[in-house]
Amino acid sequence: MEKKPFLTLQQVQEITKTYPTPFHIYDEKAIRENARKVKEAFAWNPGYKEYFAVKATPTPRLIQILHEEGFGCDCSSLPELQLSDVCGVKEHDIMFSSNVTPAEDYKLASDLNTIINFDDITHLDFYDKVVGDWKETMSCRFNPGGDFVLNNSIMDTPQEAKYGMTREQLVEAFKYMKQKGVKHFGIHAFLASNTVANAYYPALARILFQLAVDVQKETGVHIAFINLSGGVGIPYRPSQEPNDIMAIGEGVHQAYDEVLVPAGMDDVAIYTEMGRFILGPYGALVAQCIHQKHTYKEYAGLDACAANLMRPAMYGAYHHITVLGKENALCDHTYDVTGGLCENNDKFAVDRNLPQIDIGDYVYIHDTGAHGFSMGYNYNAKLRSAELLLCEDGSVEMIRRAETPKDYFATFDFTGLFDNIK
Ligand SMILES: *Cc1c(COP(=O)(O)O)cnc(C)c1O
Repeated sequence: MEKKPFLTLQQVQEITKTYPTPFHIYDEKAIRENARKVKEAFAWNPGYKEYFAVKATPTPRLIQILHEEGFGCDCSSLPELQLSDVCGVKEHDIMFSSNVTPAEDYKLASDLNTIINFDDITHLDFYDKVVGDWKETMSCRFNPGGDFVLNNSIMDTPQEAKYGMTREQLVEAFKYMKQKGVKHFGIHAFLASNTVANAYYPALARILFQLAVDVQKETGVHIAFINLSGGVGIPYRPSQEPNDIMAIGEGVHQAYDEVLVPAGMDDVAIYTEMGRFILGPYGALVAQCIHQKHTYKEYAGLDACAANLMRPAMYGAYHHITVLGKENALCDHTYDVTGGLCENNDKFAVDRNLPQIDIGDYVYIHDTGAHGFSMGYNYNAKLRSAELLLCEDGSVEMIRRAETPKDYFATFDFTGLFDNIK
């Protein structure tokens, strides 16, 4: 599928009069439309709720927009809990799916009356000691081990994943929690990441639904919800077909009717914790070419670097690139598109066929709306960029300012030393 920027060169030229590059920018209209489609896909399930994975894009304005569309938050750390709370997302609209969880995090998750999802059976005793406030509704994370196979190909390897409990541990955990007074139970699992395959959620759902039926029989507990977690992917490459969320919802519906309904479990709510699918395509990193280099290869050097978008450097991930204003130009040049970190993996693209890039050209890096800005870091004392919102009415709002050197120095306490730095 052709990948089109949601901004034109003219719009970017206008925006940069106020906000210099680089910046991440998000498309409010498309975010809301996608959110409504997600809800529609699962509308057959009265209890359905999406808990947006905050780690994907922990930006208050975006969390508020998603909350307005009826989404909750999936948190895994104390500051993520605080962030969701101040954004007005409260109590059971927060799912706390963490691992290697510190005591303070459990304490706050409990104080905020969130739905706590235990990653490991040993966490039950830990929680009992450090918090002890058992809730009516709680959850456990499942890991089936082995390989996760879909259409004869291995999608991921749960046996290598640190998350979740074995089946035996899950049963034991539910019995323990029942004794502590828990009344409504959830089962959660995340088996494969960035799946661009409509069959992923339905296959996962079938595994968890069967488990729920068996566990309910074995323990007599009430299974209130199944959380399919995240992992629904997006087409980073033009050659990929996007997921069809309606088909995904229908696939889960079918598994529900075939497995849960005959077992008399037709009151089970479906939860999801998507991050990438919710925001990924609706954010972009806009940067400017500031240098050109011709050595053994052709380099286009941007004013953004891996500190603004780590996925290419970290995973070799593909992000599509459009040179704004040259959308229809021939891709008859081959570039490494780089940032300025003193690290050779700081490349947004390697050997990418693109139109000729001139100094001053604006480069639009697609699909940075999830796991983009949020993975940023300060190596080489590079600073994080601003985040902007392209509002539904076409105006642009700054929803996070860019870092300044003062932010970078803020954790030092050399009183007076940095006073003259802007
Ligand atoms: C990261 C994460 C998600 C979101 O994953 P996506 O790939 O963005 O959909 C959901 N749940 C948990 C527990 C996670 O760690």
